[in-house]
Amino acid sequence: MKLFGSMFAVALTAATITGCSHEQQVTGNFDTEAMNTMMQTKSQFGDIALGADLWEVVICQIPRDTTDSIFEPSDERLNLSSADIVNELGPVVDYFVRWSNGRYSPKFTAAKEVSISADEKSDVCVDRALDQSVNSTRGVLVIANAQHTETAVGGWGRPGSSCAESCSARLTHRAVYIGASDFMPYWKGNPPLDLIEHEMGHALDWPHSSTSVDNFGNGVYDSDIDVMSNSAAPRDINSDARNAPGALGINMYLAGWLDGINVAFLENGTKSFELVATNTELVVDGLRLVLVPLNNSTVISIEVIGASGDNRHLLHDRVVIHQIEVAGETGFERRQTVLDADLLAGKSWSDGKVEIKVKQEVTTNSLTTAKIEVRIAS
Ligand SMILES: [Zn+2]
Repeated sequence: MKLFGSMFAVALTAATITGCSHEQQVTGNFDTEAMNTMMQTKSQFGDIALGADLWEVVICQIPRDTTDSIFEPSDERLNLSSADIVNELGPVVDYFVRWSNGRYSPKFTAAKEVSISADEKSDVCVDRALDQSVNSTRGVLVIANAQHTETAVGGWGRPGSSCAESCSARLTHRAVYIGASDFMPYWKGNPPLDLIEHEMGHALDWPHSSTSVDNFGNGVYDSDIDVMSNSAAPRDINSDARNAPGALGINMYLAGWLDGINVAFLENGTKSFELVATNTELVVDGLRLVLVPLNNSTVISIEVIGASGDNRHLLHDRVVIHQIEVAGETGFERRQTVLDADLLAGKSWSDGKVEIKVKQEVTTNSLTTAKIEVRIAS
């Protein structure tokens, strides 16, 4: 859910790069067009996925006679301040610290409320929050105090325009916006936070993923293994779960949360790899991701997901395979498709050209590893 058509267009406009240096040489281990393009895309946004990331949290007052059809026709309003919301976001901070291997930490601070008039749209809330934000703020998280209708999206997020250093949200327009639903009294101060984590993912320039390439742009979020798809998957299994599933290895790598040493690349031939589950702390050496180029714009990614922590809902460890296709000018536009979401030991996947076999999968002292063999037909 999460990103409706018109905001997608707005986000892309905001992210259009002027004077971007496509001729720039990218340092790294990978000398393929697809990876170079992804690294350049990433570099347009500087270090937005690293370090302390300052976010202002802003409640937007929606008038009871609002004409924006995104809102439920109801007089009920959220009775929380921006500071109250900040107090409920601790698990979101923990989630990103965990998945970034301690390299990224959103810092939420409460800012003054904003409001819109009856004939203004919800997006105006975000414009006002950006206008009042201080220079050091890199993103605004706006929560409407009215719920969206059941058929409307829960919210949206965008990375804003390119930015190398002084990434003030006032200039980049980086923002996340959500309706009030997840913070209503029904949740008794224990809100689900997966939607915010998903939208924060967009603010890190992450794209959606889906189980079918045909699903792109159709609002189908059907992969349970990625925060950027069915973010509510953990809650569907365990109603007490509050966080989204974890991040995909390709997003972690492009965010700078994995190092080159954690990623292997195979262009031809046959090779065996030992992969360590992506939720393993970096103090444990080893590969987290294997990438196989298909052509100038597409790679296959292979990783191991451990069914623990944020991915407990998956019930068993597995190897997962995605097709990652560069599209457009932002990471946001990459097309990430599940090729196999549950490949177990003894099984293999093949498209006729690339064959991936899982030879062994072992969990010892909560460390999950898998031996795989990748064969590329010549
Ligand atoms: Zn989304």
